Parts: sequence; C-alpha cells; structure tokens
Amino acid sequence: MRQSKLFTKTRREAPADEVSKNAELLIRGGFINKEMAGVYDFVPLGLRVLNKIENIIREEMNTVGGQEVSLTALQNKELWEKTNRWSDDVVDNWFKTKLKNDTELGLGFSHEEPLVNLLKNFVSSYKDFPFAIYQFQTKFRNELRAKSGILRGREFLMKDMYSFHISEEDFSNFYEKMKGVYKRVYERVGIGHVTYLTFASGGSFSKYSHEFQALTPAGEDTIYLDEASSQAVNNEVYEDEILSSLNLDKKKLVEQKAIEVGNIFELKDKFSKPLDLSFVDEKGDKYPVLMGCYGIGLTRLMGTVVEVLSDDKGIVWPESIAPFQIHLLMLGESEAVIKEAGEVYEALTKNNIEVLFDDRAGMSAGEKFADADLLGMPYRAVVSERSLKEGGVELKKRTEEKGKIVKLDELLTLVKAKN
Ligand code: ATP
Ligand code: MG
Repeated sequence: MRQSKLFTKTRREAPADEVSKNAELLIRGGFINKEMAGVYDFVPLGLRVLNKIENIIREEMNTVGGQEVSLTALQNKELWEKTNRWSDDVVDNWFKTKLKNDTELGLGFSHEEPLVNLLKNFVSSYKDFPFAIYQFQTKFRNELRAKSGILRGREFLMKDMYSFHISEEDFSNFYEKMKGVYKRVYERVGIGHVTYLTFASGGSFSKYSHEFQALTPAGEDTIYLDEASSQAVNNEVYEDEILSSLNLDKKKLVEQKAIEVGNIFELKDKFSKPLDLSFVDEKGDKYPVLMGCYGIGLTRLMGTVVEVLSDDKGIVWPESIAPFQIHLLMLGESEAVIKEAGEVYEALTKNNIEVLFDDRAGMSAGEKFADADLLGMPYRAVVSERSLKEGGVELKKRTEEKGKIVKLDELLTLVKAKN
C-alpha cells in the first residue's frame, strides 16, 4: 500500500488524557482512534494487526476441532435471569437497553447463557459429544475504570470458546490440551517469553482456574512467579496452604506486575443445570452436560504486544502480526529515486510481500525515519541517492541499529512472503 494514499496520518502527540503507552503509541501511529475512554475504533493499520491476531487464534482453536460461530450482542433478559446473572447486584458491568415497547435487553458481556440455550436446539444424546465452539465477538462491559487504553475496553473484541463433555475425564483431557494451545497463541503473537500460566481461584466449582499473565510494568494484576519452574499464582491464591499444595516455596516467588491476556476455567454444570442442557446416556438416563470456558481478549493482547515489545522510538511488531512486513521508504524525489523505489515496490508486491511504501512527497528523511520507527514494521528498506550509488537498497530490521545494502533478489529472499 502506498502511504500517500493511506487516510490515517501519524501524530506527534496522543490525546492529553491518554496515559497508557499502548494507546499513546497506537493513536500516534494511526492504528486506533479514540472515541471516548475505553472505546476505540480500529483504523486500517490497527485492523490489519487485529485480523492477524484473529487468524492465529482461529488456526489454533481449529487444531482442537473448534467450530466457529457468531452469537448476537443483543441479549434476552429472561435467559440471564435463569442463571441469576441479570441483576446489577450480581453482574456490575452490564450495559442494558430497551425495546420501543419497554422490553429490557442487555448487550452481551459474555456468552455462556445464549450458547447453552442455543445448543438445546441441536444436541441431546451422548453421541453428540464432545465438541467445542468459539467465536470472535465484541463484548460490552461497563468497566469502572478504563485508563489502560485497549488493555481494558468498555467495548472490546474477545475470543470465547466453550467446550462440552459428558465425562469428567474427557473434560480434563481437553482442558489440559487447551493449556498448550494457549501457549502457542502467545508464542505466535510474540509474547511467549513473558507469558506464564498462572493459578487463580476457581470460584465455587473447582479448586483452580488458570490465567495467562504477561509480565510488564503496565499490568494491572500482581502475580507471584517461580522462575525456575515457570509457575505463577495470582493474588487470590497467594496463601501458605495453597502454595504448599502446589509445591511452591514462598521464598522463591517474585512479585511481578502482569496483564491477564487470557484465562481458562471449568464451568462443570454451572450453566447447563439452570438452563437444562443435558444428554441422555446409553441406558436412557439424563445428566447435565459438563462445560469448560476459554477466553482471550484480542484487543488486550494487541495492546500487550505494544507494551512488551515497543522501545523509546515506537512500536516493534513481530513478523507474525505486523500490518506490513516491510516499510519501503523513498528518500528524495529525483527521477532515478522515484523510478527505482517504484520498481522495488512492484517487485515486493508481485512476490506477495506485504509492503507499506512511503512514497510521500515533501517530507524530510528524518520525518520518514521517525515514522518508520513509530509504526514498527519488522523491516525497513530505503531507496535514496546513496543506496542507488551503492547499487541496491538499504535494508534494516526494526530491532537493528544499522542497515546494509542488499540487491533486489536478496531483499526478496530475506523478507519472506506471507503464504
Ligand atoms: P479482568 O480480570 O481483566 O477484568 P476477566 O477475568 O473478567 O478480566 P473474562 O471475563 O474471563 O475476563 O474474559 C476473558 C478474557 O478477555 C480475559 O482474560 C482478558 O484477556 C479479556 N478481557 C476481559 N475484560 C476485558 C476488557 N475490559 N477489555 C479487553 N479485554 C478484556
Ligand atoms: Mg480476571
């Protein structure tokens, strides 16, 4: 894509009321736009990142046979009353609205109830199980505080998966498998090295749930990490008795700030019982279905990547989720430079390499370099009078200080095509 055609522009300053690093960099770079606190639009560069994260998660959910759906945001009050989750005293972050005839509706903050209710139209026999269903859905939560940019949105994109089983054993096998699936997701988006499986409280149905916590000072959560065993606990379960049951030595635990980038937990029959989702076994006896639930906030994950990987010049996108693989800068406007830069752009495009081509006129080299650092594509290639003289383009990784002159065919092999 030609940057001269991109409707978004980089900015020197983020809005004065924006205190988080992720939002500051993403707004300055033109990845997102702030509507109000906790509510952000995704503009082209940001949407490209989000779509790549979504595709990685989709591929990973499909490895365990996940079936993708899309449930509605508008929610029926009566359904949520059956599980006692309609009342604002129980769920304090509902956004509610009304039909013209005064019927109350909610905007989904989660989707256990509607999904369980939907399944009653489709499954009833033990032969129908097990299976897992997931979606990418905008969730609405009236969060009290929304000062962390896209880490905590009032409207945000979540992947929620739910698994359905007829035996405890099958459920726990699947649950264990999901720990590995989640690990791969965080590795693939570039924060695997700081993300830890963390024991959290299980609520009323099981001993533990698990969070995936990414270490960064920007985190709202506090966890206690045993680096040797890569085990962590959150503050809900930081108690002597629990630590010893997990074989963790309190003296070895280090307190860290972290962002919860996902969680998995057992629901057992918490929703299937009140909503009457059951199966009939081989003998004709009826039992409630067992459920597990697996969430990842995609927008939060994107913000976490920015918090973890950026430097003082701007964002550093991993290749897997960068909006473009390479940022091609045209410096100077001589006929020779324009011609060469255009040819390099054509060649990259023809080879299926995603390229953002800074073909903007009337800008200094310094301004273009600063923008390239802010936007954070993995590679930067420069065409200038100097590179022409040296017989190639100057290629540099975002993470490197110095570039080197490479010929076009070398450039095409160094920067890999996406599929
Ligand atoms: P938190 O403890 O941060 O409030 P939660 O435990 O309520 O989140 P879930 O309801 O289980 O989170 O949601 C699943 C995942 O969705 C979380 O692990 C997190 O990655 C993401 N998430 C939750 N709330 C938000 C939010 N307000 N904005 C962005 N992502 C969110
Ligand atoms: Mg939580």
